[in-house]
Amino acid sequence: MSLQTHHLIVSVLLPIHRLGLFSYESTESVKIGNCVKVPFGSRSLWGIVWALHAPQVPNLKKIIEVYPYWSASSMFLLFLRQCSEYTLIPLGSLLRMVFPISEILEWPCQTFRCASSFSSVIQTCPWPGTFAQWVFMFGLKRVKKWIQEANLVSVEIHHDYNYTSPILTKHQKEALEKIGFQTTFIEGITGSGKTEICLAYIQPIILEKKQILILVPEISLCQQWVHRVQKYYSGNIGIWHSELSAKERKFQAWSILTGSTSIIVGARSAIFLGYKNLGAIIVDEEHDGSYKQAEGPAYHGRDMAVFRGYHEKIPCLLLSATPSLESFWNIEQKRYTHVALSQRYGNAQLPDIYMLDLKEQKLDSNMITLPLREALQKNLIKQEQSLLFINKRGYASLWVCYHCGFRAACQNCNVWLSIHYLPKSVLLCHYCGFKKPLPKTCPECHNLEQVKLWGVGVEKIGQEVQSFLPNAKICILSSDVCYTPRQLNETLLAIKNQEYDILIGTQLVAKGHHFPNLTLVGIIDGDFALSHLDLRSGERLYQVLCQVIGRAGRGVIPGKAYIQTSQTKHPLFSYLQSHNIQGFLQEELSTRKKYHFPPYVRLISLTLSGIDENTVHHYALSLKNHLPHESWVEVLGPAPSLINPLRRRWRWRIFLKSPKHYKIQDYIRTALHTFSLPSKIRLHIDVDPYDF
Ligand code: ADP
Ligand code: ZN
Repeated sequence: MSLQTHHLIVSVLLPIHRLGLFSYESTESVKIGNCVKVPFGSRSLWGIVWALHAPQVPNLKKIIEVYPYWSASSMFLLFLRQCSEYTLIPLGSLLRMVFPISEILEWPCQTFRCASSFSSVIQTCPWPGTFAQWVFMFGLKRVKKWIQEANLVSVEIHHDYNYTSPILTKHQKEALEKIGFQTTFIEGITGSGKTEICLAYIQPIILEKKQILILVPEISLCQQWVHRVQKYYSGNIGIWHSELSAKERKFQAWSILTGSTSIIVGARSAIFLGYKNLGAIIVDEEHDGSYKQAEGPAYHGRDMAVFRGYHEKIPCLLLSATPSLESFWNIEQKRYTHVALSQRYGNAQLPDIYMLDLKEQKLDSNMITLPLREALQKNLIKQEQSLLFINKRGYASLWVCYHCGFRAACQNCNVWLSIHYLPKSVLLCHYCGFKKPLPKTCPECHNLEQVKLWGVGVEKIGQEVQSFLPNAKICILSSDVCYTPRQLNETLLAIKNQEYDILIGTQLVAKGHHFPNLTLVGIIDGDFALSHLDLRSGERLYQVLCQVIGRAGRGVIPGKAYIQTSQTKHPLFSYLQSHNIQGFLQEELSTRKKYHFPPYVRLISLTLSGIDENTVHHYALSLKNHLPHESWVEVLGPAPSLINPLRRRWRWRIFLKSPKHYKIQDYIRTALHTFSLPSKIRLHIDVDPYDF
């Protein structure tokens, strides 16, 4: 009698956008969560075994192989399922983010111990010498890279790292002890030691050989965290963001999956990666809008972190000096443990804030008022650094000919082109990146005399400062001037080394940087977001101003801040002046409650887009009519998007609102099941949209 192996039909989740789950034949030894390679059409794909039963299908194919070094835990699978149900991102699309580079699953994964024995030799290696000798001569990182490039064998090095804990102050220690098992919000003004507390908190987790994920809103903050971590930790630090080269991405994803890096600093997409054994998640600057991904699969990195922490039963720490309204509400609802730090480390004081009324100042065509000008001058004499903030890239925002009325507009978007002189002279679209040379004369009437440039950007402020402080060393900080993370880091270092006197920057400077000699901050245009009708504009303005102002006086010298605005009486500024964020958030919350906005309701947007305006409008209307009437769902729209077209595509949006205890996601999923669109029209779903 022959031995019979039992065959099963299993359901495998594949990284295919819409569908996701497919049936395959497998042997009994395959388990839920296994990472498997399967034939798919003419190619093969890696996926995850989702269930041990699946529908019988014709031409059932067999699983090719099982990846031996990693499999998804049931908790991680639950996270993916819940995440898909909440965000309406199809499971197949989510899987693409779990294994962004599936070819690493093809790499063998052998373990060498190099710390103890110097004799481990990789047999097939063409270079003479032992592994440990190469590491000694060239450094671990490079050797690893070579090994990969030569496609020989992958190496997991169990080198014995150290992690010493920072020494905390009494207040910080008390805060540390309050951190809970699940989501904890650490609220503390900039410089109060939130980072330091986290570095102490993760020590026992690291020593248990578990991984820590630190999420940052901006790529430029990765390097800073790496520096901070390196003070206490001698092991490998992983990095994950979109600017990594293809080779680096592979190496990083592999190191994270196999567990050879235990601390990972990453941008929002790192929240979906496959980890060997994740032990805690930290979300720095949780309020930051950059955590929201609005294009492609729409999700909020912070929310996914809380979700993942919850399902994987690991702690998630949210850090901010200016909590988002959502988090503030969650704290009030006692969903998060709340830890507050009210003092800056050492004797550093919060800066005093002065309001400068633009209505009372004679500015002509200038933007910097006299008191701010004098303050800059004084600071220069004292050899202390100053920072001017304006939330506008480039030199000016509109090129207009007053002779014929011509205005330079984008050919893809319904916006005017901005004027840039740095790093090169161009007209640039801030939405799609479309560029063209600066015209020498008006393209319509060939006149030059009456060309005007309207609007003020960082470059123009730089010019103005240079005109009254010709000896000041000025640094313009915007994504146009520092467009790679390396450039930005070099510039930030130069600022720390005091190679510049005055920094002029967009919100790039607002984030988490520490300049000990910076004592003066000037907000050029404190009105910039007050006039917007956007749901979050007040909140965002408060956060950015708080952050920018928080740059001042972080060292031993106290700081000062000046805000230029025409609305000095706006309540936002008095909250800011008295450093009363609680008061501000309370007031914002009551407005949201009054108008039935999030966080009191769930809001979801359905955006239809396409090249032809009428077709898009037509399908938007038919989608709206297709949505069934329910007393608890409010359907708004369709309405054209604010900027229409954008990147040549016309967009119409429908908003759905419902009380939170209803499953509006299920309602949408069911409705869309019976609604079809031609391929030229795209539907984009955004749960908790940011732009409303
Ligand atoms: P936050 O993250 O709240 O902005 P940080 O943790 O970055 O604050 O601390 C601000 C500054 O104070 C940093 O330069 C940090 O090195 C220093 N600092 C904070 N706490 C301590 C501590 N316990 N021991 C030594 N330095 C500290
Ligand atoms: Zn454009």
